[in-house]
Amino acid sequence: MSCDFLALASRGINELQPYVPGKPIDELSRELGLTDIVKLASNENPLGPPSAVMQELPSLFGELARYPDGSAWRLKQKLAGHLGVSTDMLTIGNGSNDVLELLARVFLNRDNGSVVSQHSFVVYPLVTQALGAPLTVVPASHFGQDLNATLAAISATTRMVFIANPNNPTGTWITQSELTGFLDRVPEDILVVLDEAYFEYVQEPSYPDGMTLIGSYPNLVVTRTFSKAYGLAGLRLGYAVSHPEIADLMNRVRQPFNVNLMALAAGELALDCESHLTESIELNRAGLDFLRMSCEAMDLSYIPSVGNFLTIEVGEVTRHYDALLRAGVIVRPIGVYELPRHIRVTVGTAAENERFVEALGKVLGRSV
Ligand SMILES: *Cc1c(COP(=O)(O)O)cnc(C)c1O
Repeated sequence: MSCDFLALASRGINELQPYVPGKPIDELSRELGLTDIVKLASNENPLGPPSAVMQELPSLFGELARYPDGSAWRLKQKLAGHLGVSTDMLTIGNGSNDVLELLARVFLNRDNGSVVSQHSFVVYPLVTQALGAPLTVVPASHFGQDLNATLAAISATTRMVFIANPNNPTGTWITQSELTGFLDRVPEDILVVLDEAYFEYVQEPSYPDGMTLIGSYPNLVVTRTFSKAYGLAGLRLGYAVSHPEIADLMNRVRQPFNVNLMALAAGELALDCESHLTESIELNRAGLDFLRMSCEAMDLSYIPSVGNFLTIEVGEVTRHYDALLRAGVIVRPIGVYELPRHIRVTVGTAAENERFVEALGKVLGRSV
């Protein structure tokens, strides 16, 4: 007996491509027998988690037989104070990917879809298509999101627009006036999901803070994460800030215990670790400068970035990516983002950045 399971899958699922994460260090070590490996492939914080998190979490091991607080009460209290919003505007997720998916499940279906930009974060098309919802991809302009084209692409089947600010993998960003100009014109029954995963790293004066705009634009939802500047990617913790009615809807579809006990505790601790955050931001700024200057010295073009990564044009990606792997350096090929000639490198420690630049110079035959 045989059964065509592909034919049984829900609408949209067959067209999905599974997400391909950055290569894990263990895997490369098994494949090539290398020991000294640098992973600059997943935009993780090279400083690791805040020290308070490492010190305190072991004291919670005894609690692990209990369910976590499904309402995330304490973390919400703390986060609300930190952000200057009320707790009923918060939705806590198992990473911000979780809240992006909750938003999609609440608002998207076969009649109501989303608009995204070319080169934008793959999770937006993924959560849209998984629901069989229509997806509109707007061509990018200078690798970034074209907000006028985004507005023009809104149709009767649009319910949601995704904007990553800055975007991953391009590092491109939109200014305060560009964003408010867009929000002023977008119909109020279209949700605007502003993904600020790299918010803490951005130091440009005209970079907007989504939190200050939610009061004026009830259709604006801002998402942030503890995975990047806070150094907690492995625990999975992120959140959305929205109008309380939107938060209420997300809460209805949320798994009752979507965020684990360790993540909840770590989030509370991390919000107090200001020096870790400051250090992470400073290390990133210096590292990004170094990577940019090194590209210029090697005559390589790159996409100007305000995130914790830089996307560099190297030409023949497969060959160069493999050669970098053999040199023990893991970066990210980004062909799935329609950038087949670029690699994305995460800003690491000074030593890791130097190791990458040296390896890249050798691989491309360019002197640094
Ligand atoms: C890394 C990243 C996130 C964060 O995902 P988590 O699920 O919070 O780890 C969200 N959006 C973008 C654009 C990212 O690059």
